[in-house]
Amino acid sequence: MESKLAAQLESLKLQGLYRSRRIIDDKTVVNFCSNDYLGLAKNETVIAAFKKAADIYGVGSGSAHLICGHSYAHHALEEELAQFTGRERALLFSTGYMANVGTINALLKQGDSVFEDKLNHASLLDGGLSSVAHFKRYPHADLKQLEKLLTGANGQKLIVTDGVFSMDGDVAPLHELAKIATQKSAWLMVDDAHGFGVLGKMGGGLVEELNLTQNDVPILMGTLGKAFGTFGAFIAGSETLIETLIQSARTYIYTTALPPAIAEATRASLKIIIHETWRREKLQSLITQFKTGAAQLNLPLMPSDSPIQPLLIGDSFRATQMSEQLLNAGFLVSAIRPPTVPKNKARLRITFSALHESEDVARLLETLHRLYKLEN
Ligand SMILES: *Cc1c(COP(=O)(O)O)cnc(C)c1O
Repeated sequence: MESKLAAQLESLKLQGLYRSRRIIDDKTVVNFCSNDYLGLAKNETVIAAFKKAADIYGVGSGSAHLICGHSYAHHALEEELAQFTGRERALLFSTGYMANVGTINALLKQGDSVFEDKLNHASLLDGGLSSVAHFKRYPHADLKQLEKLLTGANGQKLIVTDGVFSMDGDVAPLHELAKIATQKSAWLMVDDAHGFGVLGKMGGGLVEELNLTQNDVPILMGTLGKAFGTFGAFIAGSETLIETLIQSARTYIYTTALPPAIAEATRASLKIIIHETWRREKLQSLITQFKTGAAQLNLPLMPSDSPIQPLLIGDSFRATQMSEQLLNAGFLVSAIRPPTVPKNKARLRITFSALHESEDVARLLETLHRLYKLEN
């Protein structure tokens, strides 16, 4: 085993694809790679809610939801998330990965088909691949190809897409997808992990911004570890959908419930998301500042209006090297390489937070400009 695995690891190194973990100390660097878009992970009110709940509930939930792990805190959060998303009900999952895998598997039977955007998050792709249904991928946001694939399919059809794409920052054409789903009697599932908290007047994500109801997007997924600043995930939709998941989503049934104190902390962060609109406004102004500055400096940003602003590098070695150079300059920016993104599409994935300052963005732009000039 040792020699075989060691050879595989060596091959990753030779391709510039070896991944290593960095111990993060963001006291000394400015963090431009977190998904904590609103700066809630270290918010005092959220932390206080967490501590208070830990005193009451303890740390672990002790069991799965269906055994004896479902607390008042979980239940209240589910009701608030249902109201927040304008759906009948919401169901908490322990992680977004599990929400996606469990939901797709619970909804599809032998002979059904699932259709996924090629750039979907790995958890959605894994959900489709591990299901008994036929698994089909369409080129990124290519509605023509999707329609073709749908026309040739029998059984129940499920279309699955990211809302805001996690490595590209662009958004799915949800109005069009909802229309196609209706025409072809397909179900539509949207994973808005990066839209919740950030998009929409109240932070209700892409479906709020585009005014899409439960009829348009019947299966809506959100994560709590990004803009919410906590941990976990949820599915929102009809009473019937949620009951179906409770009966048959294996990643819901056979796992320990989230710690209730996390649920209480999330209730506090949900209130902040809704009421502290300045966080979204500030985030938008930082994004605009960065995009305008990058355009003036001819930096090859990928098209995105979200807090995910990828700078295309191409070569995996160069992306890693630039990430190290940025670290030396005091900025934490991660290099994203294959297989997370397609071959020759390595990039620096720069993300913004409402807690950044305009001066941070200006210094980042200066540094990126300097590194680019060294290169060319
Ligand atoms: C982060 C993410 C997930 C996974 O959520 P976790 O709670 O981290 O497991 C799923 N989908 C998308 C689009 C994501 O960005």
